Amino acid sequence: MTTSTKESSHVRSINADLLGAFKANFHGELLQPGDKDYHEGRKVYNAMIDKQPGLIAYCTNEGDVIKAVRFALDYNLDVAIRGGGHSGAGLGMCDDGLCIDLSRMKKIRVNQQDRTVMVEGGCTWGEVDQATHAYGLAMPSGIISTTGVAGLTLGGGHGHLSRKYGLTIDNLLAAEIVLANGEFVTASEQEHQDLFWAIRGGGGNFGVVTSFLFRLHPISTVYAGPMFWELEKATEILQWYRDFLPAAPEELNGFFALMTVPPAPSFPEQLHMQKVCGIVWCYCGDIKQGEEILSQVREKFPPIFEHVGAVPYPGIQSAFDALYPKGHNWYWRGDFVQELPDEAIAQHVKFGNELPTMQSTMHLYPIDGAVNRVGKQETAFSFREANWSQVIVGVDPDPANNERITQWTRDYWEATHPYSLGGGYVNFMMEEGQERVKATYRDNYDRLLKIKQKYDPTNLFHLNQNIKASSET
Ligand SMILES: Cc1cc2nc3c(=O)[nH]c(=O)nc-3n(C[C@H](O)[C@H](O)[C@H](O)COP(=O)(O)OP(=O)(O)OC[C@H]3O[C@@H](n4cnc5c(N)ncnc54)[C@H](O)[C@@H]3O)c2cc1C
Repeated sequence: MTTSTKESSHVRSINADLLGAFKANFHGELLQPGDKDYHEGRKVYNAMIDKQPGLIAYCTNEGDVIKAVRFALDYNLDVAIRGGGHSGAGLGMCDDGLCIDLSRMKKIRVNQQDRTVMVEGGCTWGEVDQATHAYGLAMPSGIISTTGVAGLTLGGGHGHLSRKYGLTIDNLLAAEIVLANGEFVTASEQEHQDLFWAIRGGGGNFGVVTSFLFRLHPISTVYAGPMFWELEKATEILQWYRDFLPAAPEELNGFFALMTVPPAPSFPEQLHMQKVCGIVWCYCGDIKQGEEILSQVREKFPPIFEHVGAVPYPGIQSAFDALYPKGHNWYWRGDFVQELPDEAIAQHVKFGNELPTMQSTMHLYPIDGAVNRVGKQETAFSFREANWSQVIVGVDPDPANNERITQWTRDYWEATHPYSLGGGYVNFMMEEGQERVKATYRDNYDRLLKIKQKYDPTNLFHLNQNIKASSET
């Protein structure tokens, strides 16, 4: 993100006297326009997003969050909540107003006996993985370790362990939340059940989650890594994959990718910058069994490159971090998919051949197995019958390519959307309009709206895939 683009524009500043009173009671750090670290502080993961808040409040505990919410209420400030800052649409940041940042709230406490972990709202998944791995335990989350726990969880959360252990929200036991009126509550199956239902998929609509309590699983070493094949084989591989994976043991996860081989020393030089198709495997059961299953795959379709082997779980979780650092330009679109007909595969192959930049990609994340066994109305996350969550992502460090990556993503999405279930994962959405949000929650939308009206009647928390009445603009 360039800081110069908006340097001259006016940021609505917050009255110094009001701010003084707030500062006196706030334990964390506050950044305003003009402060040395302000421009660094307002950056989010996606460099296409260039927002200038009136104030960034780096909270250090729940008390800070409560004070920040009350301050915003008292002075009618717009509010953004930032966990890991990975939202593609940059929903963790606002123009003017107050950004409540949790990135300094990093406590993680593993309870080995109960197999649970308490995680504060500013943690990333890498931090959680490191902490739980020490006990031979792991949490089902995503595939990149720098992603924030908070945003990923509140939208649902899928990754390497989803087929066996469900979505991240299926492993959520409780959350502590600062509500829109500044009240601090716990949501679980025992307390504020309606709120607990809503935050499992309903995003950041209902309050600031200061901590999560998760159920852990005994996972330490997995048999995992990527296998690549020539792009010319994509049709054949996809046709096989659509039947193979749903019938495979749930310990086996494998997300399909269309991608370009990075020009990095870990890949053979002759493959650098070659467009390929690939599957990133993760077998979380007995290593020998994983090896056996995947050697059958190798025999059937000898890969042009692979890096599959026994690896500590945090290793596979962070394997692609370097490929996707903070500060690149992103544009993405998602859809839930139940079937992959030949017509859809033909579109994937067409757009795979047209990948606009090295990091642009398409992933199909499996969400069958344990994810499918939870009912559509049991949590706010509605698409329990989907077999895959599809994301098309245009990525590049150079802003000169923004239009190209955006157009490719849009065209690709238009071409494959007719073969989807109609809605997309909220965590893979840009700001795409209310119809898209409704299409994602389907029958759960009305229930979410009632809970929203109960816990946040003025829509203080609206920088998210917003649940709102049709009458609200
Ligand atoms: C490189 C990359 C890889 C990804 N891989 C996966 C993946 O494998 N699986 C997957 O499921 N998703 C994945 N995602 C999507 C990811 O889940 C979303 O981008 C998610 O919103 C990120 O959460 P965050 O806390 O980092 O983001 P933020 O930008 O901080 O927040 C995202 C949204 O959540 C709200 N929010 C954040 N913190 C809180 C809080 N404490 N309380 C209430 N609301 C809050 C924000 O207001 C905002 O609306 C990936 C994203 C990226 C960029």
